[in-house]
Amino acid sequence: MPYSYASHLKCPVCGNEYDLHEIHQLCECGSPLLVEYDLERLQQEVDIQLLQERKPDLWRYHELLPVASEDNVVTLGEGMTPLLNMPALGAHYGIDHLYMKDESLIPTGSFKARGAAVGISRAKELGVEEFAMPTNGNAGAAWALYAARAGMRATIVMPQDAPMITRSEVALAGASLYLVNGLISDAGKMVAEKVQRQGVYDASTLKEPYRIEGKKTMGLEIAEQLGWTMPDVILYPTGGGVGLIGIHKAMQELKAIGWITGSLPRLVAVQAEGCAPIVKAWQEKKERSEFWEESTTVAFGINVPKALGDFLVLRALYETDGVAIAVSDQELLQVQQEVAAMEGAFVCPEGAATFAAAKRLAVEGWIHPGESVVVLNTGAGIKYPDTVQTEAPILEIGDSIL
Ligand SMILES: *Cc1c(COP(=O)(O)O)cnc(C)c1O
Ligand SMILES: [Zn+2]
Repeated sequence: MPYSYASHLKCPVCGNEYDLHEIHQLCECGSPLLVEYDLERLQQEVDIQLLQERKPDLWRYHELLPVASEDNVVTLGEGMTPLLNMPALGAHYGIDHLYMKDESLIPTGSFKARGAAVGISRAKELGVEEFAMPTNGNAGAAWALYAARAGMRATIVMPQDAPMITRSEVALAGASLYLVNGLISDAGKMVAEKVQRQGVYDASTLKEPYRIEGKKTMGLEIAEQLGWTMPDVILYPTGGGVGLIGIHKAMQELKAIGWITGSLPRLVAVQAEGCAPIVKAWQEKKERSEFWEESTTVAFGINVPKALGDFLVLRALYETDGVAIAVSDQELLQVQQEVAAMEGAFVCPEGAATFAAAKRLAVEGWIHPGESVVVLNTGAGIKYPDTVQTEAPILEIGDSIL
């Protein structure tokens, strides 16, 4: 049996197909490309029971991943993060079955490690030696560290305001790091120039087709962890939207091979009020979003003013009867504190946004009390030490705390 059942690349806009053995970035028409699998053959040959004997990392789903040979797998042990019950918060929000998929426990401290593990492994398989990418911090950190492990050269461009720790991760990994006095979209222009002039591999969000396959594994894990059933609702903090597109793709593939049945969860794209292009497009029932001017939010990972895959995010929302919702920074910071105080989880600001959205959707009656709801905490709160201000009394030696 093959290690991977990936068959070809396909354009979700014009339907063009591309060979998996060659390097491809975007389709000729400018759209991102998606990996297609021979799902019929997979269904016949791969028994779900096989998973029981496999290691608890994302490579347990290798048949549904694009890496053709196990020899090319570059791993730091990523995947199979906890799906935690949140009983106290659930009771507080009026949601009986509230779960958090906790990506804070993954290498590099954010779920970007999933995309990097699969993206770098595939790049290695295709013979890539050097790549460049723009990032809001976490993706650059993950790709730089996985690149180091793969022996690949990386150039990473991030906004000057990106979380400080992600700079250190990139620099320590030995990648070339540039800080730009601007947004990820400005960093993207610089990377595009380097790609065009020097012919390096473009690892920008959705400009290579494999990062999304890594992020897809969040959906595979949620299904497996719920005993091959699906929750009613999944909330995802949406920047480029790759995670949401990936989860949607995972569920469609699982359904096609019969590992899950029934209707797919309603997907919720959560954004910040200071950067909500998907929410605006969804409210206007549009197919694509527009560039969000002067975007700003403390939830740095979702500060993406225009996403290349916006139409795929919106499609996933329309197809699953989902919604898009924006929360304010004030709201998500207050909820970040609530999650720590009530459940002991120090979630990242982006993760806090999904809790804030769940709370609001329950109040509004869109989430019903008996439904099962999964929120994605996409990273560790400790990567963002500056978003929390603490005051504590300072004692002199010998003072009493009674
Ligand atoms: C990148 C990032 C996101 C957004 O992910 P997309 O898949 O690009 O929408 C959310 N949370 C954190 C912590 C991130 O680093
Ligand atoms: Zn196309």
